[in-house]
Amino acid sequence: MESALDWHAARAALEWQMEMGVAEVLCDAPVDRFALEDVAKEARAARRRGGTGMSGAATPILEPEVDPVAEATAAAQAAGTLSSLQAAMAAFEHCELKRGARNLVFCDGVQGARVMIVGEAPGRDEDREGKPFVGAAGQLLDRMLSAIGLSRTESVYITNVMPWRPPQNRDPKPEEMAMMKPFLERHIALAAPDVLVIAGNISCQALLGKRGITRLRGQWTEACGKPALPMFHPAYLLRNPAAKREAWTDLLSLKARLKDQT
Ligand code: URA
Repeated sequence: MESALDWHAARAALEWQMEMGVAEVLCDAPVDRFALEDVAKEARAARRRGGTGMSGAATPILEPEVDPVAEATAAAQAAGTLSSLQAAMAAFEHCELKRGARNLVFCDGVQGARVMIVGEAPGRDEDREGKPFVGAAGQLLDRMLSAIGLSRTESVYITNVMPWRPPQNRDPKPEEMAMMKPFLERHIALAAPDVLVIAGNISCQALLGKRGITRLRGQWTEACGKPALPMFHPAYLLRNPAAKREAWTDLLSLKARLKDQT
């Protein structure tokens, strides 16, 4: 069953129940979840017919018809600054990943930087700290940037496709990516970088609509109206050190592009 609680509230509620002596997680009466789904379906059908769906003795659960992508688009468009966008994302309740995450991971680095890196999703370390790329992959990313004279403290802005950690670091689902994409697009528009670096397959899927990083990497393209360079994800480079050769080529291409655009 879906929960309206976030991770912190759920944990506090659980701890309180344990202190109160709760030893079993059972309801007083059994819940027939198949029947609940039937009632919800009936209510939806009745609404489509223009009725209320209140045919039987039991009060149906009237699910509001929500289009998460439309809601995300409206919330993202209403944000006029990066901090109001962050607040809008924090208030967005339709992505299930939020329930299991400790923190919203919004950004790190320098606002207004010429380079914006778009990673995939937070891992355990990022979820704990509320900042992107702080774990092992992030440390490698910092070394890669430093090799071409860039850094997140001076010249790079970093975000992710997903602001919440997926459980067990699974790939985000297509519907999760679709509902968070309006926020990502707005994030890019507000950050207004000169170039985007698209790190890894999930980010290519979100911003270019295609995967295949081995083919895409190193080929300048356009995303959200910005020149964009797909690159291997640093986590992939940690697992496949031989691919660092190609990553180096791509870093040099990024450096050259920044020089050309000055
Ligand atoms: N991998 C990502 O894509 N982003 C992070 O923030 C951390 C790991």
